[in-house]
Amino acid sequence: MLNKEQEQTVVRLCQELVKQRSYSGEEQGVVKVLKENMEQMGFDSVTVDKYGNIIGCIKGNRPGPKILFDGHIDTVPVQDAGKWEHDPFAAEIVDDKIYGRGTSDMKGAVAAMTCAAANFAAATGKDFAGEIYVAGVVHEECFEGVAARAISAAVHPDYVVIGEASQLNLKIGQRGRAEIVVETFGKPCHSANPEKGINAVYKMAKVIEAIRTLEPTHHPVLGDGILELTDIKSAPYPGASVVPEYCRATYDRRLLVGETKESVLAPINALLDKLMAEDPQLKVKASYAVGREKCHTGNEIEGERFFPGWLYDEKDEFVQAVYGELKAMGYDPSITQYNFCTNGSHYAGEAGIKTFGLGPSRENLAHTINEYIEIDQLVKVCDCYGGVMKALLK
Ligand SMILES: [Zn+2]
Repeated sequence: MLNKEQEQTVVRLCQELVKQRSYSGEEQGVVKVLKENMEQMGFDSVTVDKYGNIIGCIKGNRPGPKILFDGHIDTVPVQDAGKWEHDPFAAEIVDDKIYGRGTSDMKGAVAAMTCAAANFAAATGKDFAGEIYVAGVVHEECFEGVAARAISAAVHPDYVVIGEASQLNLKIGQRGRAEIVVETFGKPCHSANPEKGINAVYKMAKVIEAIRTLEPTHHPVLGDGILELTDIKSAPYPGASVVPEYCRATYDRRLLVGETKESVLAPINALLDKLMAEDPQLKVKASYAVGREKCHTGNEIEGERFFPGWLYDEKDEFVQAVYGELKAMGYDPSITQYNFCTNGSHYAGEAGIKTFGLGPSRENLAHTINEYIEIDQLVKVCDCYGGVMKALLK
C-alpha cells in the first residue's frame, strides 16, 4: 500500500493535470506539468515527440523487459459547463472524490502511472531488471492508436499497460472500430425538372437499405461486428431548388479480432458492385474515413480511421503473472474486455505487443457531466501499477 505522503503526491498530481485544460491537440499544459513532475521525481529521461506525446523513462540497474504504461492526456470537450456542479477545471475535492474533466478519462491513471514508477524506483533503489516507460499520449479521443504508433516505434516495449478505466480489473481485449464512408455521385439539375438529373440522395437511400441486409460478423467473446449508420450529408447544402449531386453516409463498424481493412470492405464492395450492375445510373464508392488533426507541436497527425480489435487469452503467462501478483497484494481483479476502443488497438491489434488494461474508476464516468474519480481508486491503482512492475520486470 501507499504511505500517506505517496497518497498525497498522486492526488496532487492528478489535480494539477486536471487543472490544465487539454482538448485533443491542446495538450501542452499537461505535457509541461508532467515533464516538471517526472524530472523532479528522478526519471532518467523525459522526451516529447513530434506529435507532442510525452515519454518518461526509468531504467533498472539490470537488463530486462521494457514495460510501457500508456495514458492519453487529451480529453473530450466540456459542452455545457453550466450543468456541472463543480468547475470542470478546478479539480475540487468533495467527499473523497476529485471532480473535473479528465479525472476518470484518464488523468487519474496518468498521475498514478507516473507516481508508481517513481515509487518503484525508490523502493528498489533501481535494483530491478528492465525499463519502465510512462507515456502521456495526445489525440486519443478521436484517433485511437495513431499517436501511439510513434511511441511504440520509439520505445519497442515488451508489455503495454493501458490505464483506461477498469475499476482495477484486468482487460485483455476489446473490439476495434472503423469509420466507413459511403458516397453516391449523381447529376445536379433544377428540382423543377428532376428527370434531367440523378438524385444522389435517392440513390443513397437504396444503398442504405441494401447495406442493412448484410449479416454482421461474429466473435464468441467480443460479440458482433456491428455496422451502424451514424451520419449523412448531401451537397449542395442547403439544396435550394437543386437536385443533389452528392451524398455521403458514414458508418461506425465495430471490429473483431483478425478483421482487416480488406476483409471488412469486401462484402460491402461486393454488394455495391451488384447494385451498380442492376442500376446503370448508380455510382457509389466505399472507403475508410481519413482523419487529419493539428498537434500542439504544430505538426499534423493523419491516419485512416481503422483501429483493429485484439484479445489475449487469460491463461497467457503475462496475464497470469500480473493477476497472481494483484491477488497476492489483496486485490480481486476480474479478467474481461473493454467495451470501448483504446490505444490497445495499435499496441496489441497492429503491433502484436502483449497488452492489457488496468485502470481506476468506472468507464461510464468518461465523457460525463460531473466526471469524477474516487481518491480510493486513484490510490489503489497506483499501488496496483507497482504490482505490475514487480510481476513483469524480471
Ligand atoms: Zn479514455
